[in-house]
Amino acid sequence: MRRANERRAFLAVALLYAASASGCGGEEKPAAPTQAPPAKPEPASPKVPLVAPPKAADWCGEHGVPESACTRCNADLVPEFKKKGDWCDKHGLPESQCVTCDPAVAEKLKALAPAGK
Ligand SMILES: [Zn+2]
Ligand SMILES: [Zn+2]
Repeated sequence: MRRANERRAFLAVALLYAASASGCGGEEKPAAPTQAPPAKPEPASPKVPLVAPPKAADWCGEHGVPESACTRCNADLVPEFKKKGDWCDKHGLPESQCVTCDPAVAEKLKALAPAGK
C-alpha cells in the first residue's frame, strides 16, 4: 500500500510540474474543460432601450441657467420662486439668476454650466 501511495504522490508532483512548466511560457493555460455557455437564442425584442437616454444636460444655453429653473422658458416656475422669496421684481427673474443685481450670480451660473455651453 505504501508503494502505491508513493507512486500516486510522484504522479501528482509530476503532473503539477508539467502543468507549471507548460504555463511558464505565456498566459496560455492547458486546455481545460471550460463550460461554454449554451448559446441562448435572443428573444425577438424591439431594440428600444429600457431607459430613455438622459438629456444632454439640464441647461438652458439661451438663458444661461439650469433648464429646470429657467423661468423664461417655463413661466410655471415663476410662482415657485416667488413663493421662496427668490424673485427680482425689477428684472423679472429669480434673484438667484439675476446677474444684473448680483454679478456674483453670473460666476455661480458659469460654474454650473456644462462644459461647452
Ligand atoms: Zn431658458
Ligand atoms: Zn434683478
